[in-house]
Amino acid sequence: MKSPELNLIPVGVNYRSVLPQHEITYPLPKKMKAWVTYKGGKTVLEEVPLPRMLADDVLIEPLWISICASDVNKFVSLVGDLEKTVFGHEFAGRVVAVGENVDEALVGTTVVVEEHYPCLECSFCLKGEFDKCQREGFLGWYKSGNPRDWLRNGAFAEFVSIHNFCAKPTQGIEKLDFFPSLAEPFGNTVKMGRIVREKCGEVPETLIIWGGCGAQALYMVPYFVSMGVENFVLVYRGKPAMRYMESCVKDLDATFFFVNFEQEDKLNQLKKKLAKDGFI
Ligand SMILES: [Zn+2]
Ligand SMILES: [Zn+2]
Repeated sequence: MKSPELNLIPVGVNYRSVLPQHEITYPLPKKMKAWVTYKGGKTVLEEVPLPRMLADDVLIEPLWISICASDVNKFVSLVGDLEKTVFGHEFAGRVVAVGENVDEALVGTTVVVEEHYPCLECSFCLKGEFDKCQREGFLGWYKSGNPRDWLRNGAFAEFVSIHNFCAKPTQGIEKLDFFPSLAEPFGNTVKMGRIVREKCGEVPETLIIWGGCGAQALYMVPYFVSMGVENFVLVYRGKPAMRYMESCVKDLDATFFFVNFEQEDKLNQLKKKLAKDGFI
């Protein structure tokens, strides 16, 4: 099959939005290319069958893909006892087909994808509260608790199938100079903001973030500063990331404490000093 050329563009201040030029051609092919990663880390471009779909699923052609550090950490050992998988879970693309329960008008829509997908069977899923699913699956990592589910391929492939709830229309951000797949980690941050508000009842003065110098924290910290958090304790392992984070937050209007995750004493002291109403 003919596939569009791989177009890798580093995202930075000069990023200019690149919109897909190619039409979706029907019928869709029976096979697709996918980067299959084997236990041990070997990654091979292979031809594999198109993803299966459940009745509530959509089939998405990934067009903008980010490489998440949490995937990178799993490239050698994979997840659980998997022998191989297709990674890639931060992406945006367009819907090219829908399952029988999904509105056909979605075909052609540009969507950003939430990689956790619902089991459809737990008490939350039965109420339609899919984002609270207790047995969710994760693209490329593990299947959901639904016995009809399977290990789904991630976005390092020509097509991905996932529940339609996980595909959120981008509403035009792809036309701005904004890399749409980055909407996914930002979405996680907004969700974390909601969880913090639910747990604390209000915006806390102090926030301790484990993994506080990772990629996700680059979104979370400025977001929580904008919500009014005054003190941040960023717990991390790995000096380069901590130094990088320090340089990123230096102009933000908040106080930052960096703690290596092994420095339990320092963390306990900070907890005593700061965390009377903090979220821990
Ligand atoms: Zn991720
Ligand atoms: Zn569920």
